[in-house]
Amino acid sequence: MMNSQNTKQNALSSVRRILVVDDSPETRYIYRRFLQRGNEHYIVEEADTVAAGLDLLRHDDYDCVLLDFCLPDGDGLDLLIALDEFGLQTPVVMITGQGSEPVAVEAMKRGAKDYLVKDCIDQGRLVAAVEYAMDEARTEREQTTYRKELEHKSVTDPLTGAYNRRYLFSQLDHELQRTGRYGTPLTVLMLDLDHFKSLNDTHGHLTGDRVLELFAGMLQHLARNTDIVARYGGEEFCVVLTNTDIDGGMSLAERVVSECRKLDVCDEKGQQLQVTCSAGVAEAVGQISSARLIEQADKALYQAKHLGRNRHEMFRALETESA
Ligand code: GH3
Ligand code: MG
Ligand code: MG
Repeated sequence: MMNSQNTKQNALSSVRRILVVDDSPETRYIYRRFLQRGNEHYIVEEADTVAAGLDLLRHDDYDCVLLDFCLPDGDGLDLLIALDEFGLQTPVVMITGQGSEPVAVEAMKRGAKDYLVKDCIDQGRLVAAVEYAMDEARTEREQTTYRKELEHKSVTDPLTGAYNRRYLFSQLDHELQRTGRYGTPLTVLMLDLDHFKSLNDTHGHLTGDRVLELFAGMLQHLARNTDIVARYGGEEFCVVLTNTDIDGGMSLAERVVSECRKLDVCDEKGQQLQVTCSAGVAEAVGQISSARLIEQADKALYQAKHLGRNRHEMFRALETESA
């Protein structure tokens, strides 16, 4: 029973849905015959206009489109452009008339994977073009996934999933420029786990790692999507709050410090641990560099540590500068 179900599923997963967009019923019939002759691998559907083709493509998944260039309500390029506008990646094989190389070139430029000249189409060429287009699309998808993974790895910290320090500085520079230009507020939180060395020493490095992961997860949860949560290094984290003034920053800091105390974490012997953190908050005032703003938040953090930890403090320019 299981086996026959698996076989059925495998067979279904290898079935390809092909959309033929051509206004001639005879041509559509010929392509359908070519594709399906002795091969159950293709399910063929049909559309006779650009609009009908686009409608099907927008509402259903197809593995490839065979697209006639001349259609009653536009040409094949219109459909290619529309696909692009809707962010659809369905591979297209354009079918052009004899002697229309410039059209074919334009179609390829606009994203068609291949083209065929109408009068020269036979079963072999048609199937080969469709398979080639689908292969190309698959390779592109794999490359995109791989590139995205690389991009993600290059900006994140592997242990906690928070952004890394390099990304933090590049984004903070960018956000500070926006702040300078539009006068929108921006606030930075520096956070540091309290007595983390002793937690590591007493409960082991793996427990320490687990705390870092949980803490970072809690930060991501409390911050907004537009905020940047980064691991600054070791057991220090930085949160950049865009469009937020010092009051907003202080209230988030208060929540972080309070939620940290509630983190549910046990060591390997099942013993519940009490984790606390300290926070320093600084708002960008005037033209300020990222390094300087972080230094200010760090000073406030130092003050929080100095005043007994498990608390948050804001940077106070006069007191701290003159101290
Ligand atoms: P304070 O309250 O003043 O911040 O004291 P602290 O012990 O937290 O600060 P200290 O800077 O003395 O120690 C930080 C510790 O963080 C030491 C280091 O081993 C630990 N640490 C840094 N990175 C990691 C990590 O990736 N995993 C684990 N488990 N520990 C780490
Ligand atoms: Mg610490
Ligand atoms: Mg530290």
